[in-house]
Amino acid sequence: MKDQFVFDPLPQPTLRVIGSEKLFPVHRIYCVGRNYADHAIEMGHDPNREPPFFFQKNPDCLVTDGHDFPYPAATKDVHFEMEMVVAIGKGGADITVENALDHVFGYAVGLDMTRRDLQGEAKKLGRPWEVGKAFEASAPCSAIVPASSIGHPDQGAVWLKVNGTERQRGDLDQLIWKIPETIAYLSTLFTLQPGDLIYTGTPAGVGAIQRGDQMHGGVEGIGEIRVRVV
Ligand code: MN
Repeated sequence: MKDQFVFDPLPQPTLRVIGSEKLFPVHRIYCVGRNYADHAIEMGHDPNREPPFFFQKNPDCLVTDGHDFPYPAATKDVHFEMEMVVAIGKGGADITVENALDHVFGYAVGLDMTRRDLQGEAKKLGRPWEVGKAFEASAPCSAIVPASSIGHPDQGAVWLKVNGTERQRGDLDQLIWKIPETIAYLSTLFTLQPGDLIYTGTPAGVGAIQRGDQMHGGVEGIGEIRVRVV
């Protein structure tokens, strides 16, 4: 086995699971755009219920277990976006809204870190968002809490403080596309696999961070995350 690769493969990205010794192996990271009306408005968009849209980050973009967020290259405007994260445990395509929650292993809290200047340029030029969204360390994420222990939260505060000052606050009940709808719709576009993560969108209040800042956020009933910008 050892010699089957031309070089050693990089390690499988994983998240810890609360109450378990076993790790959650991460497959893909999907992110939902503009899923809270007040954030859609602050970004200059009509919050009317257009179909959800998605972009991806890469599994190796994850920052886990309180590691630092290194300020990325090629930007002067890095934004935080505090989000609830859905961890898929059972894959499928064309999943129905009614069955969608059966596919959820658990939940986590994460930060969709964004090079807003590069994303803005990509939007203006009609180009893909990868340079704005899928850079190294762009996806800090907490440990996963299994749905078997907390159920499927559909309300609860989503908040973020930077250096102790509250910058974002919303509630899961403000999601434009609810979790079952998001999973069902996403599964018409991609075949979901165990290990997929879905960053479900951010409430209003996104803003820039600088080196030395301390981000501390959470989703009520799920967990918290602390990440230092270095
Ligand atoms: Mn986001």
